[in-house]
Amino acid sequence: MARFIFITGGVVSSLGKGLASAALGALLQARGYTVRLRKLDPYLNVDPGTMSPFEHGEVFVTDDGAETDLDLGHYERFTGVHARATDSVSSGRIYSNVLEKERRGDYLGKTIQVIPHVTNEIKDFISIGEDEVDFMLCEIGGTVGDIEGLPFFEAIRQFANDKPRGQCLFMHLTLLPYIAASGELKTKPTQHSVKELRSIGIAPDILVCRSEGPIPQKEREKLALFCNVRPDAVIAAQDLKSIYEAPLAYHREGMDQAVLDAFAISPAPKPDLSIWEDVADRIYNPEGMVRVAIVGKYTQLEDAYKSIAEALTHGGMANRVKVQAEWIDAEIFEREDPAPHLEGFHAILVPGGFGERGTEGKIRAAQFARERNVPYLGICLGMQMAVIEAARHLGGVTDAGSEEFDLEAGQKRFTPVVYHLKEWIQGNQTVARTKTDAKGGTMRLGSYDATLSEGSRVAQVYGSLAIEERHRHRYEVDLSYREKLEEKGVIFSGMSPDGRLPEIVEVKDHPWFIGVQFHPELKSKPFAPHPLFRDFVRAAKDVSRLV
Ligand code: GLN
Repeated sequence: MARFIFITGGVVSSLGKGLASAALGALLQARGYTVRLRKLDPYLNVDPGTMSPFEHGEVFVTDDGAETDLDLGHYERFTGVHARATDSVSSGRIYSNVLEKERRGDYLGKTIQVIPHVTNEIKDFISIGEDEVDFMLCEIGGTVGDIEGLPFFEAIRQFANDKPRGQCLFMHLTLLPYIAASGELKTKPTQHSVKELRSIGIAPDILVCRSEGPIPQKEREKLALFCNVRPDAVIAAQDLKSIYEAPLAYHREGMDQAVLDAFAISPAPKPDLSIWEDVADRIYNPEGMVRVAIVGKYTQLEDAYKSIAEALTHGGMANRVKVQAEWIDAEIFEREDPAPHLEGFHAILVPGGFGERGTEGKIRAAQFARERNVPYLGICLGMQMAVIEAARHLGGVTDAGSEEFDLEAGQKRFTPVVYHLKEWIQGNQTVARTKTDAKGGTMRLGSYDATLSEGSRVAQVYGSLAIEERHRHRYEVDLSYREKLEEKGVIFSGMSPDGRLPEIVEVKDHPWFIGVQFHPELKSKPFAPHPLFRDFVRAAKDVSRLV
C-alpha cells in the first residue's frame, strides 16, 4: 500500500510546485523506492487539450494518449516513470464524471453535493493504482484559498483521515519574499498561508520555502514555531541556476530525510545520487556552446515549448555543450528574408503547432536549412512544413500546402500534400473520426510504433529499426508524393508498421535534416537524452566547430 504525499502551494502561484514534486520523486527513487506522481488541477476545463498554449503552456501527451498538464513532463523528466491518463485530472473532468453518473442514475436519486459526491470522485482518482508503488505524490494545482481548489483540499483532508495514521503527509510550498530595504526575508505571508490551510483542516508536515538566498536560522525557527512544523521540516528551496540541480539541492536541505522522518521510516535507506551528480556536472561544466534557432508561433511564452527546451538542454548535456535556444517568430520570415536572421545559428528547429498563421515563415526556414546545409529538426508541423517546402521547390507541386489551412480558411487554395486523416490503425484496432467530432477528440494521440528503413540516418541515430513515439496531430503527409520526393533525395525513412503513414522524412545529401511526425521531446530525460536531440545537437556542435 502506497504512502501518500500531498503537495500544495501558497502565497503566490508559479513557485515551482511541479519541480519540487518531481525532484522529491527522484530523491525517493534514489533511496530505492518506487513512485508515481499525479496532478490535480482545479480549473474547469475537462483537460488542457483545447487550452491555448499562451494560457497554459505546453500540452503534455502521455503514452496512453491523454492531453495533460505540463507538470507531468517534469515528473517524467525527473523520475523516468511514464505518466498515464490517470495521473492528471481537473475539476472539469471530476464534475463531468459526477454528472455522467448522475444522469445514469448511479446515485439512486440522491441529491448530488460537493461533499460527498465530488470529494469521493477526487478520492477515487487519488487511489487509482495505490498498490503499485511505495509512494504516490499528488500535487494540487493553484494556491490554497482559490475558490476552485476547495473541493480538492477537502478531499485530501478526508483522504488522510480515511487512511491509517501515518500513511499521508502534507507538504506546503510557499514564498519568503526578500525586502531589500530592510535586508529581511519575510515569513508573514507563509504564516498566513499555513493559517489558511489549517482553517480547512490541513496541517502541513513539511514547509518548502522558496527564497532567493539561504534562510537564516532565526527565520527558520520562527517559521517552525508559527507554522507548527519541526525546525528540520523547514526546507529552503533557493533559486537554482538549473532545475536539474534540484534533487541535489533539496537533498542537501534535507527534504527527503524530512519526508522519511515524517513517515517514521527508520533506518532510512541510503540515497544513491550518482545520476544527479553526473547530470549537474554536465549542466554546469559545458565545454562549448551551440546556438539553435526555434522558429515557431508561440514564442512569447517559453512554457509553450517546455519539453523542446528541456530536450535541447538534454541533447547539450549528452554532448557537453550548452545549448542556447533562441525563439524566433515565424511570421517575421513572411515579411523579411530569413537569411540575416538565421545566419549564425548552428541549427534550426521548427516545432509543432496548429493553424496557418506563421506557416509560410516556417516553410522558408525549412528551405533555408535545406539549401544552406544547416542541421534541421522538424517536429510534427515542422515535418509537415519541410515536406511542403520540398514538394514546392523540388517536387514541382508549386501550390503544395496542408488541408488544415484550407479547412481553416474555408476555401481551397492548396494542393494537399498534407491531408486530414479519417481512419487509422492503433495496435490491432481501427480508429475513425469525422470533421464534426468534438475538438479535443479528433487527434491521433499517444504512443504509436514506427518502422525505420535500414541504412537511414534515423536508424543509425536510434540504433534500432523499431521505435515508439508519442503523437498529437490530425493531419498526415500524403504517401502519394513519396516517389516524387524520394527521387529528389527526400527519403521517407520511418513509416507506421502498416506502411500507410509517413512518420519520418530525411534529406539524403545534407549534414542533418530530419522531420518527425511525432513529439520526441516528450520522452527525453536529463539522464537519458532522446537520441534525436542528442544527435541533432551533435550535428550543431560539428557546425559550430566549422565556423
Ligand atoms: N497542426 C498539425 C496537425 O494537426 C500539426 C500538429 C502538431 O504540430 N502537433 O497535424
